[in-house]
Amino acid sequence: MKIAIVANHAKKSQDVAKELKEKLALAGFDLDCQVPSVVITVGGDGTLLSAFHQYSHLLERVRFIGVHTGHLGFYTDWRDYEIDLLIKSLTEEKRQRVSYPLLEVTLEYSDEQPTKTLIALNEATIRNIERTMVADVYIKDECFEKYRGDGLSVSTPTGSTAYSKSLGGAVINPKLKAIQMNEIASINNLVYRSLGSPLIIAQDEWIRIDLKREDHYQLHLDHFVESQVNLVSVTFKLSKKEIHFASYRHTQFWRRVNDAFIGKIEYKDE
Ligand code: NAD
Repeated sequence: MKIAIVANHAKKSQDVAKELKEKLALAGFDLDCQVPSVVITVGGDGTLLSAFHQYSHLLERVRFIGVHTGHLGFYTDWRDYEIDLLIKSLTEEKRQRVSYPLLEVTLEYSDEQPTKTLIALNEATIRNIERTMVADVYIKDECFEKYRGDGLSVSTPTGSTAYSKSLGGAVINPKLKAIQMNEIASINNLVYRSLGSPLIIAQDEWIRIDLKREDHYQLHLDHFVESQVNLVSVTFKLSKKEIHFASYRHTQFWRRVNDAFIGKIEYKDE
């Protein structure tokens, strides 16, 4: 088994990564950051997002494991003091994995740039950085609505607990193969009207937004941001690819949501 380790710059993460490398080598694992079959991240969700994009060309073969050195994350199952346990489970495991959906984003430009297809783990967001964004929103090939507002964001089920949640989106169990679109500050009055609530489309559907103004747009894709983009159209659909996690100790999804957003509640008699 070839293992790559990706750590963020925090001292604690660097120390944990060093310990992990030494112990993995002692246990006989091959440390290979070029063509790994397992990628272990040390840090937080942001570290896993970076590693995902670093190894996105190897998604078929790679399984990810997240070790967190700060707060509990959504992509990080292991705690930094559980390194020995993690190595033991790697030694005993039989290549089990849990797979989750990804978002495919196709960008069409108003200039001569060729069409580009990207992949997101959390979400992709389009904003007009000059003035109100005006867009025709299609679901499959039918025009669904005319949107006016700051922008639109489309997320994966695992991304539903990230930016999507802040936009009022639903939390989606990542076992479901679906993508969710959220509006950002839409204009809804007697003249302009869009749905005004998040919408979730099925596996065989896609969303296309045709941008009606020749303005500059900002594209957010997970932790990447690109400004001054000359876009005319963006299509969002479920990717044929998936992210695979090594399933050694997969925390139950709703328990994780509870831990992250609700925590222990003490009910008092009323
Ligand atoms: P970051 O690394 O500061 O992350 C921001 C927060 O989002 C962190 O607390 C991180 O743990 C959390 N996060 C990331 N993915 C998550 C997920 N799938 N479920 C629950 N929480 C998650 O910021 P960054 O590296 O610039 O961006 C990474 C992600 O942060 C983006 O993909 C976006 O989803 C999220 N984000 C959220 C907001 C917001 O909620 N207003 C704003 C910006 C970015």
